[in-house]
Amino acid sequence: MGIDGKARVKRYSALQILKQGLTGHTGWQPAWRDASPKPAYDVIIIGGGGHGLATAYYLASIHGITNVAVLEKGWIGGGNSGRNTTIVRSNYSIEGNTAFYEHSLKLWEGLSQELNYNVMFSQRGHLNLFFTPAQRDGLARRYNTMRLNGIDGEFLTRAQVEKMVPHLNYSDDARFPIMGGFFQARAGTARHDAVNWGYARAASALGVDIIQNCEVTGFIHQAGQIVGVETSRGEIRAEKTGMAVAGSTSLLAKMAGLGKLPIESHKLQAFVSEPIKPFLDTVVVYSAYHGHFYISQSDKGGMVFGGDLDGHNSYAQRGNLPIYNNVAGCAMNVMPALGRVKVLRQWAGIMDMSMDGSPFITKTDIDGLYLNAGWCYGGFKAIPGSGWCFAHTIAHDRPHEINSLLTLDRFKYGRQIDESGHGPFPKSH
Ligand SMILES: Cc1cc2nc3c(=O)[nH]c(=O)nc-3n(C[C@H](O)[C@H](O)[C@H](O)COP(=O)(O)OP(=O)(O)OC[C@H]3O[C@@H](n4cnc5c(N)ncnc54)[C@H](O)[C@@H]3O)c2cc1C
Repeated sequence: MGIDGKARVKRYSALQILKQGLTGHTGWQPAWRDASPKPAYDVIIIGGGGHGLATAYYLASIHGITNVAVLEKGWIGGGNSGRNTTIVRSNYSIEGNTAFYEHSLKLWEGLSQELNYNVMFSQRGHLNLFFTPAQRDGLARRYNTMRLNGIDGEFLTRAQVEKMVPHLNYSDDARFPIMGGFFQARAGTARHDAVNWGYARAASALGVDIIQNCEVTGFIHQAGQIVGVETSRGEIRAEKTGMAVAGSTSLLAKMAGLGKLPIESHKLQAFVSEPIKPFLDTVVVYSAYHGHFYISQSDKGGMVFGGDLDGHNSYAQRGNLPIYNNVAGCAMNVMPALGRVKVLRQWAGIMDMSMDGSPFITKTDIDGLYLNAGWCYGGFKAIPGSGWCFAHTIAHDRPHEINSLLTLDRFKYGRQIDESGHGPFPKSH
């Protein structure tokens, strides 16, 4: 069911836009209710990023659990969900990830209609460049696995890449001479704010309380169970509490008594340039020795791009010059045409890097506490799938088949889901 079921908001439509346009835009309702906390709920979700908001929406829309609060210490979407480079794809090759990310991509494909909110999902394709035979073989293995799992993906020769993206550096003496690429046509980008706002509006319409400026400062334990939280706005009780706080996961896990999780907080930066004329109509990505780079062009014309993590633990949500230097160098390797474009802004988010690079959507060993974390720098694309699976896990007290491998105890049993094969080094995933 979309938001129409119990909708307490007016639907957005072309007719509404026309009507509002003719009446000075004075009749729009707030997109969601700015709720104050009640003493108790059925479910509390900590974290008003995309994952928390999507979880609340699917709890209400699929499982009929509407007495839900989303507690956000700042403003919704103020964390990583509003700070990322918005790449959405499902080119994963390891059991545990493959079905999950494809499920998420399928949800993206119908999301604007389901939420009655334009999340600006644009399936402009995702092109992964390769420069060496070894890279080609690695990517071929990944894309063959995808095809075997019914996920789209194609191999492109250098000539085909050149036809698709003429502005790359095709010179034979380039630092990274382009040999070809692997392409996922259904991949693309979306508007990050719109995803947060769309889920918030749809969840609020179904009765969920979205509570901003409400920081969780402690957990209420009773008979070995978590029965609520202490917040900057008082105590709030619930039988079930779900955490979806990304880079703050370790801090809250410690407060809850979960101990040390296989997660580290690292920072990732992104950049946007001044708007330029249409230049790039797909996402371009590469990984090479001492370089990792991804770029797309926003609908406003800005080039949105990023590279590697800072490489050390941090809670700082700001940029710095060494990474600027590194990412600009990576850009010049493949897109020298951008050399004179000015960068307008640079920022950072705090990644919840897991030891194997894969996420957790799971019950915990503490009754009443559920965990959604470990998204590393790939959790934007996961928002719909993660919310869907986390809601199922909370509602039924067991995982859905799709997230059944995304547990904390996979480390206990040596069943890591190490997509990149880098081993237990979070900063390498
Ligand atoms: C620069 C950058 C580029 C990225 N690029 C991509 C990309 O191209 N594609 C992709 O798929 N992913 C990308 N990601 C990753 C993606 O953005 C994240 O994995 C995803 O947004 C995580 O969503 P979330 O809801 O878990 O976390 P967040 O959006 O960070 O939400 C967590 C929320 O919890 C709140 N919170 C924390 N502590 C408390 C507390 N004590 N009480 C109450 N609230 C609390 C925070 O304020 C925050 O709003 C990128 C990230 C960054 C930073």
